[in-house]
Amino acid sequence: MTTYPPFGAGLWNFATYVDRYATDGYGDPRSTLDQIALAGAVGDLSFVDLNFPFTPGVTLDDVVAALDETGLKAIGVTPDIYLRAHAKGAFTNPDPAARASARAIMDGAAEAVRALGARYVKIWPGQDGFDYPFQADYADLSRLAIEGMRDLARAHPDLKFVIEYKPREPRTHMFWCSAARAILGIQRMEVDNVGVLLDFGHALFGGESPAEAAQLLIDHGLLWGMDVNDNFRGWDDDMMVGTLHWVETLEFFHVLRKNGWEGVWQLDQFPFREESVENAKLSIRFLKRIYRALDHLDEAALADAQARQDALTSMRLVQDALFAAGED
Ligand code: FE
Ligand code: FE
Repeated sequence: MTTYPPFGAGLWNFATYVDRYATDGYGDPRSTLDQIALAGAVGDLSFVDLNFPFTPGVTLDDVVAALDETGLKAIGVTPDIYLRAHAKGAFTNPDPAARASARAIMDGAAEAVRALGARYVKIWPGQDGFDYPFQADYADLSRLAIEGMRDLARAHPDLKFVIEYKPREPRTHMFWCSAARAILGIQRMEVDNVGVLLDFGHALFGGESPAEAAQLLIDHGLLWGMDVNDNFRGWDDDMMVGTLHWVETLEFFHVLRKNGWEGVWQLDQFPFREESVENAKLSIRFLKRIYRALDHLDEAALADAQARQDALTSMRLVQDALFAAGED
């Protein structure tokens, strides 16, 4: 039996969703506790990332009890700083009162991280950025984004924060839009408790090579978390892992293994029309196969081929590894 890395999932994988067409939602709303129960039903999950605040009426004690019951642990807490109240941004909102209310939600998420013993507060400032040319002063945007994040990190020196970058959606231009942008911004903060969560799909969508972006972040000591999923590269489709980009998924995990990166392999998927437990199970089935494929990859031959940039040999080795990784 292979021993696999720990698997995790954002709790939103088990929510129901609204979009701009099905404004009545794709299913009845589910509470934080309903979502934890579904995550527990997957079987192979060890960790969840929880949205904060929890759904109405759900307390921290309820969440602790539900996690205990399912055997799940919290890896992170994601403050909801991208809802209607912060439609013009959290850190970069032009209204100081809106920035303060976003900060209060993040401080609450920090408390939840302490109470749950989670590893980090995950910051996804989805509304920070702009939509139109001439809409924003770019110097103001970066000052607010970087100073706001620095102040948050300094207010909670006992905790770690990760920024999840994404090129666009819901804004047409998001401030934290690439691995390089995240590194530059974090360097300007001059703090040691802010890192990056690399979402494989965001890297694809942003035109990056996810494996190369991972190496860049590792080289700067900033790859502290990751999400995995798949998309057609034109949008953040958040589809099941391995439905499209097999080779790039293998390359991404190869870079992580090569660098000795040991973290949680975490799902970030939005099964609008699929049953969420089976959706997660099938994704983990593919991730296990990727893990076994890495065991079949001839590392010495690959290193030798890469030293010559011999793409033909590399691809032959990759194909051999992928097709050799059968049932566990
Ligand atoms: Fe993500
Ligand atoms: Fe995403």
